[in-house]
Amino acid sequence: MTALTPADLIRPEIRALSPYHVPDATGMIKLDAMENPYSWPAELIDGWLAVLRTAPLNRYPDPQARRLQARLREAMAIPAGAALILGNGSDELIQLLILALAGSGRAVLAPEPSFVMYRSIAAFVGMRYLAVPLRADDFGLDLAALLAAIDRHRPALIFLAYPNNPTGNRFAAQDIRQVLQATPGLVVVDEAYFPFTDHSFLQSLPEFDNLLVMRTLSKMGLAGLRLGLLAGAPRWLNEFEKLRLPYNINVLTQVSAEFALVHQTVLLEQADRIRASRAALFAALNALPGMTVFPSEANFILVRVPAGQANRLFESLREGGILVKNLSATGGLLQDCLRVTVGTVEENQAFLAALAAAL
Ligand SMILES: *Cc1c(COP(=O)(O)O)cnc(C)c1O
Repeated sequence: MTALTPADLIRPEIRALSPYHVPDATGMIKLDAMENPYSWPAELIDGWLAVLRTAPLNRYPDPQARRLQARLREAMAIPAGAALILGNGSDELIQLLILALAGSGRAVLAPEPSFVMYRSIAAFVGMRYLAVPLRADDFGLDLAALLAAIDRHRPALIFLAYPNNPTGNRFAAQDIRQVLQATPGLVVVDEAYFPFTDHSFLQSLPEFDNLLVMRTLSKMGLAGLRLGLLAGAPRWLNEFEKLRLPYNINVLTQVSAEFALVHQTVLLEQADRIRASRAALFAALNALPGMTVFPSEANFILVRVPAGQANRLFESLREGGILVKNLSATGGLLQDCLRVTVGTVEENQAFLAALAAAL
């Protein structure tokens, strides 16, 4: 019998994918992945290590991560009536939602451009993906187009990143309310960048039965831990909970995140510094010739460089030891665009100097 090959067995939609590529950033100023650039004060690290010493690695973790859930509810003021599911990063929660809702004729919808994992995970699972373009001038929601797509396709699930990645803007809250009212399906408001904005839909959960709010600790300063959360009505989350793998939040993440949330003020102060640096970086980028700089409520800034220059500028920055995200190849509204994460004051200065020199 002839053995089957990957071409025979692997689903065509999986074979068509490329693996998620993370460039090597060893020794570089890393401004490509929305990480918090600050570390912890020494005494905080000592306190954390003391907690780790007692972590029972021989035991499976608490499958519900109850202590961590209680800390998260308190730290984020999650409405009492809402249920909570934790994920190994919010990426895992996106996967869980799509796994639960995929099926023949079912579609997932998101604006374009937005967070790439919505589309990728829909492709893994084989769920139809509908992309509705954002407005070209300011990356706002095109409400008329969105409502028409909802009416026509009745998507089971809509993702709205609030603020949006990679554009950095925050959609109008009133538009999101209209989407919530118009759609028969679920709407996930993805608040990955909540530490960098003053706006949230978390307190609106009791108002909308089809609203789910997703957050992550990654952009706040704990990207290495992999912890995301989904809050929403129990009747929905009880169903999603069935798909969650029992021990998806490991022991070290549980105790470390609990500890970090007790000392949340340190992370929130860092977020405030990042917001201040964002304003300075925005002004400095605007002062460079030929740049279109888009306002951001996240910890990164999207900038459109002079036409045809994105690849050259990206390479020049990389040769100078600075890694940003080159989105130009994505095309469409992101043609000629680079995305830069807000770093420390020194990192931002190094980036600006290298960019100015390359221009
Ligand atoms: C970074 C990001 C995430 C993923 O966060 P993880 O918790 O690290 O998986 C989700 N949504 C948006 C919009 C993001 O930018």
